[in-house]
This record gives sequence, structure tokens and C-alpha cells, in this order.
Amino acid sequence: MKSTANELLDYRCNLKCSSSLGRAGVTQSYQIHVLQGEGANILFELFPNLKAKLINEYGACLCSLKNKFRFVIGDVLLNKNLTEDLHWFCIDRFTLETILRRELCLQYDNEQIQWMSNTKVTQLIVNQSTNAVLGVKYRSKLNSDTKMQLYSDFIIDCTGRYSSSIKWLKENFDLILPTEELHTGTGYVSFVGERFKTGNVSLDSIHVGGNAAHAPNHNKGFLTTPIRQIKSSDPNSLGLLSNFAVYCVNSEYPPNDSYENLLEWIKEYLPIDYYLILKSTKLLSPLLPYRRAFDSRKYVELLGRKWPLNYILLGDAMCVFNPKNGQGMTHACRQAKQLNEIFKQKYHLKDISFIYNRQASSISEECWLGSTTNDWAVPTLKVTKTDQYGKTTTYQRSEDSTSNYSQPKIPLFMQFLQWYTHWLIKCAAQSGELSTAFLYVVFQEKTPYSLLQPKFFLKILYSSFRNSFNLTKSLFD
Ligand SMILES: Cc1cc2nc3c(=O)[nH]c(=O)nc-3n(C[C@H](O)[C@H](O)[C@H](O)COP(=O)(O)OP(=O)(O)OC[C@H]3O[C@@H](n4cnc5c(N)ncnc54)[C@H](O)[C@@H]3O)c2cc1C
Repeated sequence: MKSTANELLDYRCNLKCSSSLGRAGVTQSYQIHVLQGEGANILFELFPNLKAKLINEYGACLCSLKNKFRFVIGDVLLNKNLTEDLHWFCIDRFTLETILRRELCLQYDNEQIQWMSNTKVTQLIVNQSTNAVLGVKYRSKLNSDTKMQLYSDFIIDCTGRYSSSIKWLKENFDLILPTEELHTGTGYVSFVGERFKTGNVSLDSIHVGGNAAHAPNHNKGFLTTPIRQIKSSDPNSLGLLSNFAVYCVNSEYPPNDSYENLLEWIKEYLPIDYYLILKSTKLLSPLLPYRRAFDSRKYVELLGRKWPLNYILLGDAMCVFNPKNGQGMTHACRQAKQLNEIFKQKYHLKDISFIYNRQASSISEECWLGSTTNDWAVPTLKVTKTDQYGKTTTYQRSEDSTSNYSQPKIPLFMQFLQWYTHWLIKCAAQSGELSTAFLYVVFQEKTPYSLLQPKFFLKILYSSFRNSFNLTKSLFD
């Protein structure tokens, strides 16, 4: 926590493997992370000096989406004439979370906050007759014999994607949490590099963005975001250290055995621009793979008042998203903000988990639609659902007729969203207004339902009909 900006960067770049440092169970910390606009708004409201500190001391940067950004979805380039200039706050996740932890400890004294490292919560302490969680049992990771108990008025379980909450709820309250999981064969290779001039000014001006994978036909993607601005005496340096991710869905994994092989793969499967950018980039870290990405939702709201008092799930512990849309951190920030709003309303403590579950799950629902609409189009999709009676069913899309699993059936609403998104993206290529509205949704500053408003809906409907009947005039011309 006391490391300087350069020490953090060295630490980050010298990792031999993604689990060699940092918090256990958070190996994604070293993968590329973009912080969406609403996530940045929430953090900077909570920590008013944080933004300036990250920019001035840690080289973070604000990238204008008007002139330093390229966003291709599948093979459709979003229109660059945005009607408003949005900015992406760009920083390395490992640096961000380390500095946040430091700010948190500075803002509150030891009486108010205690940071316990190397401890693992192993169980809930409950009172079954009042249906309440009273505290947790935990143990030291360094000495597993030391078991301790912590009692609390209210417990926020933010233990991430591998949370044991389902097991704890079953063991202690005999509650079955309905869940849904989508496996899409998403795989990342992330690394850090210094950007150098390519000889093509328009490529050098792309600081953030890339090609988003879009199933079923565009299953490979590329993303870059600057993590530090640096001063360099080399006239060819762009003065940027950037994070890069080459990724896929449908298990079409990029190699991570050598940079040369990765470059060859990019040359073969992605637009040549990214090969040119990376060829003139100096690699500064290992190529870190990640292949355990999935979407996973716990439908906490369906348990209604059966949900225990004084206990909630937040962030990935409640809902995990395919990382390709960069939603998870902002989703967690939004749920935390919502919880704060609920506390401010001064509800009775016993009602808070019930109220929170309803409101937080609608935040998850928005991100879930954003993530799973295209995931339902992945050719080898695997879906596992557990219903309220505990019956688990697995479906897998496959051409193999001897497969043990039935084919997943795309829900009707999802079919509508797939059709709508397809035409929305095509229309956004023509329209700065629609691209801007779409980016606000990506930033989580506006709800996805804002894209269904009549003025967009009618234009998208018209474009779809026009295409079906081969008409030439577009409303966006
Ligand atoms: C490859 C990849 C790329 C991603 N890219 C992005 C991106 O671009 N943008 C974005 O917003 N999100 C991205 N995400 C998602 C993002 O990483 C998560 O959504 C985010 O970390 C969730 O934060 P969290 O606090 O809920 O959980 P985590 O960050 O996972 O934190 C959980 C914490 O709980 C601790 N813990 C777990 N179990 C216990 C226990 N029993 N006792 C005590 N402590 C425990 C863990 O050690 C950890 O410290 C990406 C994810 C992956 C896999």
C-alpha cells in the first residue's frame, strides 16, 4: 500500500504469472480493465481528490472519445461524429485498487475501519429462528488453526465470483438460490507495453478502443487502453504505457507462448491495424492468459422476504459478467451507491436486505442484458440453470447429435434484443447521435432501455424494413 507509482508499475509488469501477487482469488486484477464513466463518477464523488491524484502522481489519463477512440463492434465502426464528447478515465486496475485502498484507510481512522489481510471467511453465524445473519466465522490464511468470530449489525458479502454464499444460504437457512450461468469460451491474453509511432498518424491517435468480438461471426477481439502517460526522450515514443488484450469467445483462444506467435495470430485473425500497432509496441510485461470468464447470475430478488436479514451480496458475489463488455467494476460501484442511498432513507435495518435485493438486482439486470444478449449467439454456448427447487439443468449448443445436453433455447425477449442490437449497431455506424446514446449505455450512465425510446426505435425499425425490402434511403443519411 505504501509503494510509489513506479514501484506499483514494476510490480505489475514483473509478474511471472497472474496468481503470484495480490489478493487471492482475484487473478483478473492484472488483466486489462476499463472503468466505465458511471464507475468513475461514483469513485470520484466518494474520494474528491482521487481523480487529480491519479492523473498527477500515477499518470492516469482522460481520453476523449471524439478524437482518441475507435470502437468497432464485429466489423461495424461506430460513427465518430459524437454529439457530445465523452471521456474514458484510463488507469491500470492494479494501481487503482491499491490507491483506493490507501485512500479508504486515510479517510477513516482505525476506530472506523480495520483492514484484515490474509483472512478467509469460512461460515456465517446465524440465528435461524429470526432468519438473520449475525456475523461471520473466519480464519487466518497463515495459521489455519486460528478461528475467529466477528459479529456485526449488517454484513455485505463482496467475496467476488467464487463467493460461497450459495452454500452458506443452503447450509444455514435451507434456502435455494435460483441461478443461471453462461459459458462462452471467453479467453484473454493481457499485457503492458510502451506505444511507439507506427508511421500512420490515424493509428497512433487510437489510444483507447479496438474491435469488440461479436458472436457468432466475429469471435476474436482486441482492446487497448492507456494506463500511464510517461515522459520519454525517444522522439518515436507516444509517451504512453498501455494495457492490451487480445481475446476471444467460442474458445478460439489466442496464444500466449510468445509475442511473435501472438502477433502472427493477430495478423491472421484481426484487422491489420492492430498488428501494426502491436508490432511497434515494446512489450513490458509477461503475456498473462485468463480463461475462466463466464456470466453468472444469482436471482436474489426471487427469494423475497425469505432472504435472511442483515446480509446482502454485492458486485461479482451477486452477478458476474462476460468481461468483454467491461461492466463488472462499475456494476459493483452502482450497487454500493444504491446501498448507500437505501441507508440514507433510514429504513428499519431488518428491511434493508429485502429492499436492496430488489433494487440491486435491477442494476444487475441492466448489465446482464448487455452482457448476455450477444453471448446467447456464441456457437458453442453452454447454459446451466438451477431453479427454486434446486433442479439443475445444463444445455449446450453443439452440432454433435450424441451430446449429453439438450440445445439451449434462446428466450423470446433475447431474440428480440439480438435483432434490435444488430440493427442498432448498423444504424449507429451512420449516426453520431445514436453512437453517443449507445456509448452512454456502455458507460452505464444511461439505462439500456433509453435505446428503446421511440425516436431510435422507429429509425431502427425503418432501417431493418428498408434492408428487408432493399430500399435505399436511410433515415440517418
Ligand atoms: C479477464 C477479465 C477482464 C475484466 N475486465 C473488466 C473491465 O474491463 N472492466 C470492468 O469493470 N470489469 C472487468 N472485469 C470484471 C471485474 O474484475 C470484476 O467485476 C470486479 O473485480 C468485481 O469486484 P468485486 O469487488 O465484486 O470482486 P473482486 O474484485 O473479485 O473481490 C473479491 C474479494 O473478496 C475476497 N474473498 C473471496 N472470498 C473470500 C472469503 N471467503 N473471505 C474473505 N475474503 C474473500 C477476494 O480475495 C477478493 O479480495 C474483468 C474480469 C475479468 C475476469
